[in-house]
Amino acid sequence: MLIAMTLRPCPTCRIPTSWEGNAFKPFCSERCQTQDLGAWASESYRVPEKPQEEDGEGWSGELEG
Ligand SMILES: [Zn+2]
Repeated sequence: MLIAMTLRPCPTCRIPTSWEGNAFKPFCSERCQTQDLGAWASESYRVPEKPQEEDGEGWSGELEG
């Protein structure tokens, strides 16, 4: 049987997380969400090598450097 719930690995800790009723999705918890946002703020976040076909937020591909 197929799993009805949508389980996605948490971007922060890689724990399979249900998105159903999850206010912190795609993260497993507020803690991981905060850590990820903190990573963005410190510019230490690395974009996954594999591009995902999700709704783009208007990535600007003309970054210098
Ligand atoms: Zn997590």
